[in-house]
Amino acid sequence: MPKPVVAIVGRPNVGKSTLFNRLAGERIAIVEDKPGITRDRIYSKAQWLDRNFHIIDTGGIEVGDEDEILMRIREQAELAIDEAHVIIFLVDGLTGLTPADQEVAEILRRSKKPVILAVNKLDDPSKLHNRFDFYELGFGEPIPISAGHGTGLGDLLDEVIKHFPEDDEEEYDEDVIRVALIGRPNVGKSSLVNAILGENRVMVSPIAGTTRDAVDTLFYKDGQDFVLIDTAGMRKRGKVYETTERYSVMRAMRAIERCDVAVLVINGEEGIIEQDKRIVGYALEEGKAIIIVVNKWDLVEKDDKTARNFEKLIRKEFPFMPWAPILFVSAKTRQRVHKILDLVVAVAEQHAMRIPTSTVNSVIEDAVVMTPPPTDKGRKLRIYYATQVSVKPPTFAVFVNDPELSHFSYERYLENKLRDAFGFEGTPIRLYIRQKT
Ligand code: GDP
Ligand code: GDP
Repeated sequence: MPKPVVAIVGRPNVGKSTLFNRLAGERIAIVEDKPGITRDRIYSKAQWLDRNFHIIDTGGIEVGDEDEILMRIREQAELAIDEAHVIIFLVDGLTGLTPADQEVAEILRRSKKPVILAVNKLDDPSKLHNRFDFYELGFGEPIPISAGHGTGLGDLLDEVIKHFPEDDEEEYDEDVIRVALIGRPNVGKSSLVNAILGENRVMVSPIAGTTRDAVDTLFYKDGQDFVLIDTAGMRKRGKVYETTERYSVMRAMRAIERCDVAVLVINGEEGIIEQDKRIVGYALEEGKAIIIVVNKWDLVEKDDKTARNFEKLIRKEFPFMPWAPILFVSAKTRQRVHKILDLVVAVAEQHAMRIPTSTVNSVIEDAVVMTPPPTDKGRKLRIYYATQVSVKPPTFAVFVNDPELSHFSYERYLENKLRDAFGFEGTPIRLYIRQKT
């Protein structure tokens, strides 16, 4: 399921970044690579009770004259409305209500998104009544918090998650393969989508959703239904284009959450940069099947070693996914474009593959015989049995005498043995080492 997005909006200095850091619970988050943009954290994953979500910090307003600041506040509030499912409207309970707060309120009122009003900096219980000043903003009961001290956040988040979209919209049938083309702007995602669709004379029906922020294209080829999740089509409103671009990684993340197969598109002319790794790292974390497509291959000057060298570079830069197939294509000349869907179907099958328990166990038993498990302080890891517990990605539980005795390197060895036996091309697999009860 795609995770809901929560945006923190408010005038400068009310404590948005402080709240963001609290909710993120960590200081690192994905940052934007673009020069000229504040290298701020912009979004992060967060969790409350059993709900996972993304938070966006719309902060980072530079100092400027009053008009400039007001303009930026407006822009950011509008962005938050576009991107978020729930908005936390943050105000400063020590300073009290200001015209800039009114400005933000006016924009938020026009949106149909749920807005939760939080009054920050109420560290001192004797100031709690300050929150009543903010009733007149018209967003209901103001929730008192202190982002600095971390108080009131539970009440705030309880209110926030009440407004999350229902989890029930599993939108497509199990057997529809959901594909997302991910990658930086300008690598050729849209061109590839067009080339793929053109190639297949497909029946195309774009579907715009309410809680999803991408346009989906349903199509059909050789008896197989596909959905293309297109994030590139999301660019709108020229005015805020640059700022919107800050959220392109966020969109890629949300597309990844909804897909079965993530197709990472790399520009063959430019090579690999940090952002490519982050995006694909997220696909891996989410357990998605992955294909690497090197586009604009027509622009690359080649000899007989070029493809092999590029492949080596990819393997070096993405050492955590040696199983991901690589394809060199050109959306322009359509060279090898037809192979993309064939590969998508192949890795989707591997991603959904189920292996009978007896077969899993004979592979594991053989592996254990060939290389026995490690010993730790005289105690030996004993493996009793293994079974596949789920698909997408294939996930195995390995039952042992004591999980503490297991080592990453031995788990990697078992994973490799499973791959030798069953393939699993293009998909991550997971091993959970469990105590036998
Ligand atoms: P932003 O501009 O809205 O992102 O605000 P910041 O998070 O940068 O915070 C602005 C100032 O308010 C900083 O000096 C923070 O330390 C301070 N601040 C943030 N939260 C609290 C709080 O809960 N209590 C108090 N007393 N100060 C806070
Ligand atoms: P996106 O931002 O990733 O969707 O990228 P676009 O599909 O908009 O492509 C960006 C630019 O690269 C456009 O000018 C395309 O015409 C060009 N482009 C895309 N694919 C290819 C390709 O395979 N070869 C060449 N030469 N140009 C391409």
